[in-house]
Amino acid sequence: MTESDVIIVGGGPAGSSCAWALQRAGQQVLILDRKAFPRMKLCAGWITPRVWRMLGVSPEAYPHGLIHLKRLIFHFRGKRIPLTTRQYSIRRYEFDHWLLQRSGAPVIRHTVRHIREEGPYFVIDEQFRCRFLVGAGGTNCPVYHHFFESHFPRRETDRIATFEEEFPYPYSDSECYLWFFDNDLPGYSWYVPKGNGYLNVGIGAKIKALKQRGESLRDHWLALQDKLAALGLVEGHAFAHKGHQYFLRHPGMQPQRGRVYLVGDAAGLATVDMGEGIGPAIHSGLLAARSILTQRPYSLRSVPRYSFWDLLFRWRWKTR
Ligand SMILES: Cc1cc2nc3c(=O)[nH]c(=O)nc-3n(C[C@H](O)[C@H](O)[C@H](O)COP(=O)(O)OP(=O)(O)OC[C@H]3O[C@@H](n4cnc5c(N)ncnc54)[C@H](O)[C@@H]3O)c2cc1C
Repeated sequence: MTESDVIIVGGGPAGSSCAWALQRAGQQVLILDRKAFPRMKLCAGWITPRVWRMLGVSPEAYPHGLIHLKRLIFHFRGKRIPLTTRQYSIRRYEFDHWLLQRSGAPVIRHTVRHIREEGPYFVIDEQFRCRFLVGAGGTNCPVYHHFFESHFPRRETDRIATFEEEFPYPYSDSECYLWFFDNDLPGYSWYVPKGNGYLNVGIGAKIKALKQRGESLRDHWLALQDKLAALGLVEGHAFAHKGHQYFLRHPGMQPQRGRVYLVGDAAGLATVDMGEGIGPAIHSGLLAARSILTQRPYSLRSVPRYSFWDLLFRWRWKTR
């Protein structure tokens, strides 16, 4: 049996940020992840200045491909609205690996399936034992299913379905485009240039609203491909998308049950306006670590529910 004070299930931004803060404070921590890093993660990879401030790193110090987006070109039902801002795009393949290594925590490749309680301990798959358990396993986190789902079922109205592809492409337009509500889509689509010659194209929408209208995300995805070709943004590429689902923030979620914590997508924390989840994942990971270290309650009150203010104004990293 491998023992650790804290075991974190999932080594994405939520889990690795939590581990980083615990390691720095001298707490014994172990990360379990079902995948070997670096690993692919479906994500447009847009991050805000707040993410760098929470990490305590300047964008200039980031050792991998990074694009500084000086403006975002929003389109609302066809109306073009350029917004001068200061945002960044990264590749999750590189970013998540960098965060995990930076955490300094030991990582074991293991798919968590079964968790049971034994006195003050949690026993995972009869192989790992801990006193504090952090669920950072994303949408299908086993810690969520085991300890939280029956108390805090997720709302179907908050479920976002996405199609996306990230691929090497000799793009000539390095602007970031966002199209909201095209063809009445209850969501938006994007074109995000990345460092090292990669491009990310995708679409996300509230799946319940789509189904109620008898539409499928695939139809909107095909329409997006036509639009990209018509605009000359992506031509001659045979798209091969992948899909993933995650949840927007539900204010009723209680992310702590005794010595069990939920962080990031496991808690369903993506912002309700933009579906931004990397910042909330890192923020919640740091808050959970602090709660474990101080034994004070873990609350998500300080994690922003909206991205829009962050796009317009500089945001100060606060945890209370
Ligand atoms: C198409 C798409 C585009 C997006 N674009 C953006 C964007 O541009 N900007 C933004 O801020 N957010 C975006 N998001 C949201 C963002 O990707 C997530 O909110 C973010 O990844 C959450 O991080 P996390 O650490 O909670 O989970 P994850 O990054 O999903 O990490 C979870 C980890 O847990 C591991 N795991 C899962 N199950 C188990 C198990 N049983 N045992 C062991 N390990 C397990 C997984 O392998 C994974 O490494 C997007 C999401 C999608 C789907």
